Amino acid sequence: MDIAVIGSNMVDLISYIDRMPQEGETVEAPGFSIGCGGKGANQAVAAARLGSEVFMLTRVGNDVFADNTIENFRLNGIDTEYVLRTDSTSGVAPIFVDPQSHNSIIIVKGANGFLTPKDIDDAAEKIAGCKLIVLQLEIPLESVYAAIQFGKEHDIPVLLNPAPAQPDLELEKVKDCTYFVPNESELSLLTGMPVDTIADIENAANALLDAGIRDVIVTLGSKGALWVNAAGSKRFEAPLVNAVDTTGAGDAFIGCFSHELVTSGDVEIAITTAIRYASDSVTRKGTQTSYATAEQFSSSQR
Ligand code: ATP
Repeated sequence: MDIAVIGSNMVDLISYIDRMPQEGETVEAPGFSIGCGGKGANQAVAAARLGSEVFMLTRVGNDVFADNTIENFRLNGIDTEYVLRTDSTSGVAPIFVDPQSHNSIIIVKGANGFLTPKDIDDAAEKIAGCKLIVLQLEIPLESVYAAIQFGKEHDIPVLLNPAPAQPDLELEKVKDCTYFVPNESELSLLTGMPVDTIADIENAANALLDAGIRDVIVTLGSKGALWVNAAGSKRFEAPLVNAVDTTGAGDAFIGCFSHELVTSGDVEIAITTAIRYASDSVTRKGTQTSYATAEQFSSSQR
């Protein structure tokens, strides 16, 4: 295996509504769709579509959504040996989208909340055979901390995407990750510093270096990304594209960055390619549905 994604999966339940219901009111939704999501699953799918061998350590419930998620992993060539069943509901996200594309989202973590450090121990042999561990914050923090320690002890690089933003994340317990990849709002929340300008973002990233983190890569939406480490900082521009839906762009970036890193071993190439891949994904609607395969991506770049 190339990459171990230790993280979340969710099933998006999307109702397309004419307007939000008032309290106590029932409204009819003219459209509905089901999509596979969750930050961990999204990142795993992007990396697998690009050709990496990916396995996911994740927990699903004992319901129909679990079957849907497992089938989606299989269709994307993701190893499901450690997709563990839990006696609970699966992670689901009821989403309401109005005609102006405003949305309201409810996240039910479900089984994702039951992924424990013991699960990491149980999958130790398989994780130890990977070239990179990829983490986000939709599973319990103690499991994130345990996975970072596991990477350190086994000399496996660890990428932490601190999303969604969690104010109680202890920097001391994540400083041993190899790559720390927040977006601007996560960086601001974690440091308590402004991120209005590139200079602000650089200062905030430097505060993370002061806390002991080695490499910080901040994604900047249409402005690309900024890589900051002890050697200095480097800005990477994003291409100008016709963005129609930026949902899941950050996960596309992480999935592609991870794939490129295990393939080329070169961080600059990984950032440059991940920006192009994520920027390509925002030209299509949906989350995983907007992620190109290796073939589609290379033909889009010609
Ligand atoms: P999300 O939460 O929507 O998944 P994010 O906030 O984690 O996204 P961003 O920093 O917004 O992540 O975007 C990640 C990458 O996606 C950027 O580095 C860029 O390559 C691409 N991207 C996002 N928005 C745009 C845009 N409007 N135009 C071009 N590229 C974009």
